[in-house]
Parts: sequence; C-alpha cells; structure tokens
Amino acid sequence: MMLEGSCNCQNVRFRVDGGGDSVAACHCGQCRKQSGHYWASGYAPDAAYDITGEVRWFEASPTAKRGFCPNCGCFLFWKAHAEDGMSFSLGAIDGPTGLRLHKHIFTRWKGDYYDIADDVPQQED
Ligand SMILES: [Zn+2]
Ligand SMILES: [Zn+2]
Repeated sequence: MMLEGSCNCQNVRFRVDGGGDSVAACHCGQCRKQSGHYWASGYAPDAAYDITGEVRWFEASPTAKRGFCPNCGCFLFWKAHAEDGMSFSLGAIDGPTGLRLHKHIFTRWKGDYYDIADDVPQQED
C-alpha cells in the first residue's frame, strides 16, 4: 500500500510503498524528547521511499540518525546506518494509514506520566 506523508510546512513530502509490516511505538528517551511523547513509526526498505524537499539529519548516536524538516522541525525519519531501510513517522502520514501497532519497544525507558493500557505486545529494549 502506498502511503503519503509530509511535514507541517509541506517542504518535505514523501511516499512510501509499504511500511505496515513493522509498526512500532518507541518509548525510548530520544523518541520521547523528539516527539513529545512516544514515537509511532512504520518501516520500509530505502528503495521504497520517494522523498522530495530537504531533510536534515541529526546524528543521534554512533549507529543511527534522525531526519527532520529544517524549516518546521517535524521529525520524520529514523535510520540505522547498518540497515538499508528506515522508519518513518506514522503521525506524518496524511489521511488514514490503515495500519495498527504491532509492538511497543524500549518500554524500559518509558515516561512515568502514562501507562501502556492496550494489548499490543511490549518489548523492554
Ligand atoms: Zn517542514
Ligand atoms: Zn526510540
């Protein structure tokens, strides 16, 4: 299924073919800082993406970088250097995604201000 997404200012637009096989909500500290809460994402091979507009990359760790719009600041992508695929923000998708969460990840690092109250499987790391 083709999904279409964009940032708040529309300078960055992307299309991704697929991405619904591994839909995760990440509760790690970096995702919570960047998103304001936990971060929900899909994952697709690099070749499945068609991205227009400037994406700026932040080297978040020695192993991964985070892509955002330099104009409006929307966090759009997370990419591990060692993988030929990357994650995209589900919140950036325009219109219905037709997807459901498959897992909560890094729940060990979740904030103390909320509970995970659904039946979606949880991974501590
Ligand atoms: Zn933008
Ligand atoms: Zn995370």
